[in-house]
Order: sequence, then C-alpha cells, then structure tokens
Amino acid sequence: MSYTGPGFDPPPPRRSRRGPLTVALAALVPGALLGWAVYAAVDGPGDGGGSGSASAEASASASSRAPAPPSSPGAPPSGGPAGGEPGASPSATSPSASGPAASGPLKGKVVVIDPGHNPGNVRHTAEINRQVDIGTHRKECDTTGTATDDGYAEAEFTLDVAHRMRALLERQGATVTLTQDADRPFGPCVDERARIGNRAEADAVVSIHADGSGAGNRGFHVILPGAVRSGAADTRAIVGPSRALGERVAGNFVRVTGSAPSNYVGGGTGLVTREDLGGLNLSTVPKVFIECGNMRDSKDAALLTSGAWRQKAARGISDGIVSFLRGPGSAR
Ligand code: ZN
Repeated sequence: MSYTGPGFDPPPPRRSRRGPLTVALAALVPGALLGWAVYAAVDGPGDGGGSGSASAEASASASSRAPAPPSSPGAPPSGGPAGGEPGASPSATSPSASGPAASGPLKGKVVVIDPGHNPGNVRHTAEINRQVDIGTHRKECDTTGTATDDGYAEAEFTLDVAHRMRALLERQGATVTLTQDADRPFGPCVDERARIGNRAEADAVVSIHADGSGAGNRGFHVILPGAVRSGAADTRAIVGPSRALGERVAGNFVRVTGSAPSNYVGGGTGLVTREDLGGLNLSTVPKVFIECGNMRDSKDAALLTSGAWRQKAARGISDGIVSFLRGPGSAR
C-alpha cells in the first residue's frame, strides 16, 4: 500500500481511486476553506499584517526573563530544576550553508520551521519525559511521535517536509531556521522550541507533525493557539495573526495537496484551537502546528510515505506562509 517511489507523481492511480471521495469533498468542504483565498485576497491577515511590531514587543518582554547561558548542544540536562531553561540557540540550526536568496518577496522575513519530535527521542525516553513548564501546567519535554504501521517515523517525516520547505522559502528570499535538524540526540523540549521562534523574532513559525489517530480517521488539520494567559504563557497578542497564518496554510494545503480537512477533529474546517500545547502557549510570535495526515490510517500513510506527496505538502504549507507574510495584497 505504501507508495515510496521517489519523484513520481501519484495522481493517476490516486485520482481514480479517490475520485468519488474527491467529488464528495468538493461538495462537503466548507465554503470557508475555499473562501479563505477570497478572504485572504480581500482582507489579508488583518491585524496579522502588523504582527512585526507586536511580536517584537512581546518578544522583548518575554526575553526580559533571564536567558540561560548557552549549553553545549546535546549535553544531557544540566540537572537543574525542571523549569530551568536549556540554551536554545546552539541547537537552532542556522540558515543553510548555501545561504538565503539575496532577493525575493520574503527578503528580510524570518521563518522558523519546527520539525516535530526528533528521530533520537526514542533512545532518550528519560530525558524527553522530563516535565517542563508550559505556562498553564507542566508537561513532558517532548514525545517520540508516531509512525506508520510499516515503521516510517513521524520524526523522519517532519524533517523531510521541513527540508523541502526550507528550500522553497529560501528561494523566496526568507531567512529560515529549523528548531532541530536531527543534529542533537533528542528534543528540543517544547518550551525551547517556542523560545527558538521567539528569540529569532520570527515573522511566522510552523510546527510540522503527522497524527497518530485511529484507522479511518483521515485528513489534515492546522492547530491554532487559543487565548491563554497563565504563568509564562500569554498568547493574546498572537491569537489573531496565528489564525490568519493558519487559515492561509490550510487553504493552500488543500489547494496544493488536494487533501481534505480532518474527518475526526475540527468539524470539517481543518482548523482546531488548543490551549494545551507548550509550543503554542509559550510563543510570542505567530505560530501554528499542522498535522499533515494520520500515519495510522493506511490511505493517509500511503500519502505521507510518498516523496512526491511530501513535496506537495511542503509547497502547500510554504505557500500559506508566503501568502501570510506578503500580506493583504497577495493573491493567495
Ligand atoms: Zn507530532
């Protein structure tokens, strides 16, 4: 069932196999999804367009907390209190050696891509089970992520999509940073993932995931930050711009991949708001998660394991980011 051939486009078999579904979805997908493009073209990200200064302020305020001194990447937790802040910058991977494009519509824009989990997490369960403070409560540093029935790990998927996105976004002139590139034994923890985006004063952050739900549950969903103000978490300034970012990511993901919004969460909108994710709660810059599909469903898994499909996924997400960053005037 798995389609793993590189570089081939699966549409012919897929189209015939999913033809009826596609037709049904065309009828069922809420007008909102298609409407986003219109909304985006007319209204743009609204207050999201001015997110730069708001983010900078929020960032400045967040960074007034004492920053931890850099620790060596990959060093085991220092043994300090669990709330201690591991150094973020050493693990944040710099823009690729080839360097960002000298010009392009996203010149001067900073995008942080957060590839969910880390292939090494499975070998560091004690470390990633450590509790960290996410403002509203304490939660595990990270998890191992899920995998397809055939063993294709979510952590491999997220890195692959992140690499493809980096190439696309750098071509547009953006400065792109990954929160991890399998260049550390595990993690980073969710709180550190948020801080990497904050410290970069990112114009947009997208955390890449694939879900591990029951077979038969299909489709993608974008997770938006809910309004949270508790402890170190204060998302009030990013709720609006993050929604604008998320709507554009979802709309472009539909357009490019042809995937349908989740049939098990979000009521068919492809959008879910959550207040329990540290990576969102602690963000001071516009940020969303995307669950690109369900690894435990064989049909979704066939897509997720296809390099050609992952390229579409990367392009859909990247197009959404580009649209958000280019603002009200952009066509999509
Ligand atoms: Zn995940």
